Amino acid sequence: DIANDDKTTGDVLSYGFGLKAQRFSPLDKINAKNVATLQPVWSFSFGGEKQRGQEAQALVHDGKIYVTASYSRLFALDAKTGKQLWSYEHRLPDDIRPCCDVVNRGAAIYGDKIYFGTLDARVVALNKDTGKVVWNKKFGDHKVGYTMTGAPTLVKEKNGRVLLIHGSSGDEFGVVGWLFARDPETGDEVWARPLVEGHVGRLDGKDSTPTGDPKAPSWPDDPSRPTGKIEPWSQGGGAPWQSATYDPDTNTIVIGAGNPAPWNGNLRTPVGGDPHKFDSLFTSGQAYVDATTGELKGFFQHTPNDTWDFSGNNEIVLFDFKKDGKTIKAGAHADRNGFFFVTDVDKLATGAGYPNKPTALLAAYPFVDGITWAKGFDLKTGRPIENEGQRPQQPKEGEQKGPQIFVSPPFLGGKNWNPMSYSPKTGLFYIAANHWGMDYWAEHLAYNPGSAYLGMGFRIKRLHEDHVGILRALDPQTGKIAWEKKEVYPLWSGTLATAGDLVVTGTSDGYVKIFDAKNGSELWKFQTGSGIISIPITWELDGEQYIGLASGYGGAVPLWGGDMAELTKTVTQGGSYWVFKLPRR
Ligand code: CA
Ligand code: CA
Repeated sequence: DIANDDKTTGDVLSYGFGLKAQRFSPLDKINAKNVATLQPVWSFSFGGEKQRGQEAQALVHDGKIYVTASYSRLFALDAKTGKQLWSYEHRLPDDIRPCCDVVNRGAAIYGDKIYFGTLDARVVALNKDTGKVVWNKKFGDHKVGYTMTGAPTLVKEKNGRVLLIHGSSGDEFGVVGWLFARDPETGDEVWARPLVEGHVGRLDGKDSTPTGDPKAPSWPDDPSRPTGKIEPWSQGGGAPWQSATYDPDTNTIVIGAGNPAPWNGNLRTPVGGDPHKFDSLFTSGQAYVDATTGELKGFFQHTPNDTWDFSGNNEIVLFDFKKDGKTIKAGAHADRNGFFFVTDVDKLATGAGYPNKPTALLAAYPFVDGITWAKGFDLKTGRPIENEGQRPQQPKEGEQKGPQIFVSPPFLGGKNWNPMSYSPKTGLFYIAANHWGMDYWAEHLAYNPGSAYLGMGFRIKRLHEDHVGILRALDPQTGKIAWEKKEVYPLWSGTLATAGDLVVTGTSDGYVKIFDAKNGSELWKFQTGSGIISIPITWELDGEQYIGLASGYGGAVPLWGGDMAELTKTVTQGGSYWVFKLPRR
């Protein structure tokens, strides 16, 4: 059922609506002709005082909605009436360290269980009918910065074994990012893969292999390092904190890996060394991992030696790319660094791109305006053509701050975590992007477990007077923008595309908005009462099509967003689930 999720309209069983994560629904009962009459059906309040940061995508199964909420909560609701069936509120310790608000992005469902991650670095399995805990596994020390915010993924690997796949969060605290596979029945670890070079993976309870090639180190290992020696924390990051996609043909999990830690690339480059020779693998890129063994098979790095927290986490959507009359199974990824990448999945899954070989990159287009850090990508080498002066220099002796520069996109990204959708019908990707930049400078840094480990100072700034958010429809064959819509506030919601030629998204000032997928005309909007930073879904029940999403402002922008945090100060917090359908005829 999970493998066919993209085709079945009565349920939503996975984050991304299927293993390709296209977020496309074949439903067309609600369409460009009738969407103007769409009406709210019910709204459910998550309640309590924990009203902020609702980033989740809900699941629908057997007439029930399963939705996670801020502060590691999960609700089961009757999909027709919104009646609460049960709820689970995870007891969180006081010393959790979420970098970017108390968010959760969704659950996974399999058999009689619902799975989700918690802010104290656990995965919890609940009985889907009662909400009772079946198992609960801690995977990292929350006191030093491990958390979990992404939705887990279920895959059936090539020998027929079903695995629960999830990653860790915590790059802003300097911990090493890990990808895990578990037995969904017991929660026991099957394999684990660290995404920082040199750290050793596990398989069936034993050490497996180190990540990367020990003979070709991409992190400095010499006494000229600022610390003078390799410390346990001097190599970190790479956290796969968003959800995986899966290619069954090659038995490959495809997942984004986060930024290297610390942010400050000077501290990951030998003094006087060339920053372009120390890539800090396997961070800020897309990882291709064998589902059966947890071996890293391929990797494409979006930002070598990332010094801007561009990370590489957000979704890699699998789709058919046409080239020279052939169809290539490709991955599409709109990175925080402002470029939209098309990669060859078969080549990366069979090791050709390991590490960062040129042939796996099919295309790289700018999807936002005003990118300062690079001119573009060289398709022969697969590497960025960087602009001079965009890597901030260390402060001089006796000074606190290095020289301030301006960089766009800023670390919050041309697009952040909020997933895009792809319509095979229009052939377009729908990207909720932002136009902004940052003042940026290097700072001195010492490691303190559980404290932010960045080594950079910043302030997010606007680029344009009339908008920050920019919803764009991009043609992956040409990189051309088919249409765009400006938003006054930053966009932080996912998008949904349907066969009814609709694109659904939410805005930070509280509107659900629906656009014509072909030309971008705004067809309908509705005010939900708080900012929307979640992911819309659609499903069919008793012959009617429904659209649902969570409302409740928060996330990284109000916490890290500088001038944009100021801009959105008037948005009130909330926490509710909204469902819409057409009136009965
Ligand atoms: Ca489905
Ligand atoms: Ca980060």
